[in-house]
Amino acid sequence: MAYYVGVDLGATNIRSVVADGDGTIIGAADDGTPQGPTGIAVTEAVLGVVREACEAAGVDPERANAAGIGAIGPLDLAEGTVEDPANLPDTIDRIPLTGPISKLLDTERVFLHNDTVAGVIGERFHSERNPDDMVYLTISSGIGAGVCVDGNVLAGWDGNAGEVGHLTLDPEGKITCGCGHDGHWEGYCSGNNIPDYAEYLAEVEGVETALPLGEPDFSAVDVFEHAADDAFAAHVVDRLGHWNAMGVANIVHSFAPLVIYVGGAVALNNPEQVLGPIRERMDEMVMTNVPEIRLTTLGDDVVVKGALASAMTGGTGDRTRL
Ligand SMILES: [Zn+2]
Repeated sequence: MAYYVGVDLGATNIRSVVADGDGTIIGAADDGTPQGPTGIAVTEAVLGVVREACEAAGVDPERANAAGIGAIGPLDLAEGTVEDPANLPDTIDRIPLTGPISKLLDTERVFLHNDTVAGVIGERFHSERNPDDMVYLTISSGIGAGVCVDGNVLAGWDGNAGEVGHLTLDPEGKITCGCGHDGHWEGYCSGNNIPDYAEYLAEVEGVETALPLGEPDFSAVDVFEHAADDAFAAHVVDRLGHWNAMGVANIVHSFAPLVIYVGGAVALNNPEQVLGPIRERMDEMVMTNVPEIRLTTLGDDVVVKGALASAMTGGTGDRTRL
C-alpha cells in the first residue's frame, strides 16, 4: 500500500494529512504555528504535526512514499527552506522544510511549493476536467496566485512565481504595501490592508460613515458587513472590485487561463461581493478570452489538499500521472 503526506504551513496554523494510495485521507493533525524564537522551532512543530497525522492514520512515517508541502513564502527552493517569512516575527529567518521532512519520512520525494502553487495543484487535481491552463488566486491576509500554463505548474527559479499581490496597479502609489513598495494590489485589497485603504478613502473624500474607522478592531469584515446599508462601505467594496478586476485582468493577459479559482478568507467569506464585481468588469478590461471565475471548491483545505495532490502526482496535480 502506498501512503502520501500533505503539509500546509501557514503563518497561523500548521496542518498535515496522510492518505492511502487512492488519495483517501486516513489521518490528519494540526497545531498553531510557533511565532518564535527561531525558524527551527517552526520546523520542529511541522515535524510534530506530520508525526501526529501519521499516528492518526496508523502509519509509520518512514512508510510514506512522498510528501507535498504548501508553505508561506518566500521560498528558497534549492535549499528547501522558507527564508525571512513576511508574516512571521523577524527572529524567524529561515525554516528548513524539505530536508527534515525527507529524513522523517525516509523518502527523497518531497515537493515544496508556496501555498498558492499548492492551491493550483489541488484545484487542478480535483477539477472535473483536470485543465492544463488555470490559476488559483487567493485573496486573504495577502494576495497571490498559483499558475498552470500548458500543463506546467509555474514555480520560477526560486519558487516565487505568482506573487501577483505585488503587481503595481496604482501608478501613483498612494498606498504602501506591507512589502514596503508603493501601489501594489495587495496594499489595497488584502484582508490586512482593506481597513487602511478604507481609512485612506474616507480621509481624502471626507465622507460620513457608520464604519468604525480608526478603532483598533476595525477590520475588513466591517466593510463587507456594512456594504448593504452604508453608502461609504459600498463605495469601498466597489473600489476593491475595481482593483481586483484590474489584477485579475493582468493575470488573464499574462497566462490565458481557462478558469480562475478564487480562494482565501476575503473571497470565501464574501463570495458575491468579491467575485461579482470582478466578473462584471472582465469584458471591459480584457481584450482576449475571458476565463470562468469561480470560487474554490476546496475551501480552507485547498493548500493541504494541493500539497497531498502534489505528493501523489510528482508535484504537478496532473491526474494522468497517478
Ligand atoms: Zn507589495
